[in-house]
Amino acid sequence: MKNHHRLLLSLLLGACAGLLLHSHAQSEILQNINRYLMEPVGQLFLRAIFMIVVPMVMSGLMLGVYQLSSHHGLARVAQRTLFFTVLASSASVVIGITLVNVFKPGVGLEITQIAGQAASVHKIEQNAAQAKPVVQSLLEIIPKNPFAAATQALEGEMLALMFFSLAFGAALAATNGDKPSRWVEFLEETYAACLLVVDTAMKFAPWAVFALVFQSTFKFGSEILFSLGFYVLIVVAGLLMQQGLVYSLLLRLFTRIQPLLFFRQCRDVYLYAFATASSNATLPRSLELAEQELKLKPEVSRFVLTIGSTANQNGTALFEGITVLFLAQVYGVDLSLAQQVQVVLMSILAGIGTAGVPGGSLPLIMILTQQVGIPAEGMGLILGVDRFLDMCRTTLNVSGDLVIAALVDQPDEER
Ligand code: ASP
Repeated sequence: MKNHHRLLLSLLLGACAGLLLHSHAQSEILQNINRYLMEPVGQLFLRAIFMIVVPMVMSGLMLGVYQLSSHHGLARVAQRTLFFTVLASSASVVIGITLVNVFKPGVGLEITQIAGQAASVHKIEQNAAQAKPVVQSLLEIIPKNPFAAATQALEGEMLALMFFSLAFGAALAATNGDKPSRWVEFLEETYAACLLVVDTAMKFAPWAVFALVFQSTFKFGSEILFSLGFYVLIVVAGLLMQQGLVYSLLLRLFTRIQPLLFFRQCRDVYLYAFATASSNATLPRSLELAEQELKLKPEVSRFVLTIGSTANQNGTALFEGITVLFLAQVYGVDLSLAQQVQVVLMSILAGIGTAGVPGGSLPLIMILTQQVGIPAEGMGLILGVDRFLDMCRTTLNVSGDLVIAALVDQPDEER
């Protein structure tokens, strides 16, 4: 059986088992199975992948920048990455805002909080309260201490770690010229070893995918999806439009790649992203796929994919815009034009600054809802469906990174 078939089967079996057993979610035996079997199996896999993210981002990005700088290609690749990132993020926010304004899924919806969500809402509120002012956040992209950034990379310091890796890779190229360097050899070997660790962990993926999807469906069931059905539908429709229309169009306009063929080649990565709901956890597999199956230039894919896993999250941007306007509709908060523009801009920024971990965008949504005067409990309304929507938006986040890598990879003359 091919890898993506195996993963799809695990995903469907996990979802079916979780949904079937959800009605017995109070059973002690089932809760124990979930707690002592499913959770550890899922965590085992996630931790093995997270373990490799920091060395892989550092070595991959340093190597990518080193190689691009040595061939004087860095400025061009960086410009193209920025151009396509802004284009794709803006398109996703426009799609989201248009859908939510046209279909108004929140108007007339009865507010029913999901029991037991108050604690989670409070936690997100606390996280949001710790958010730093914009100037401070921008300054902190330059880390004072790269080692501290590395240890906190998965807790929100990823951009700082990337900045250091970019600067170091460029400096390495500048000091070294064309001479063979032991540093570069070391980085190449580190990167190759990371790929091997990823390969080994991936053997375990079908079990982990089953366990991860089981946990979500067992906990939340499917009723909640129906009670917020229209909102869920609008988010999923927006994500599909970005994938099917915007990405296809970009690939057609700027490359010779057949969009459908390209999406088929990426199936495997989409399944990982869906099951893990984490761009960071999917990054190692995306890097592998880009080099080995999509045959993109390693220096380009290492640069674009590592940066994109944090700084290009189109699914998150689209979700953020829809969710804030949806909650405003539910609570009857009339947003002025200036506030709507603020939502659009913040959503684009959310796509750039959100940590690539499950629920990474929730604190940002909390900040935005508070700024435009939506009650904090609004978050409780969407938390029940958030895991499912997180799985969907992460898939688009990762897909967007691969599309941009392909767009940047195309030399002008091939257009
Ligand atoms: N889970 C998303 C990701 O990893 C981030 C988010 O939107 O919460 O890409």
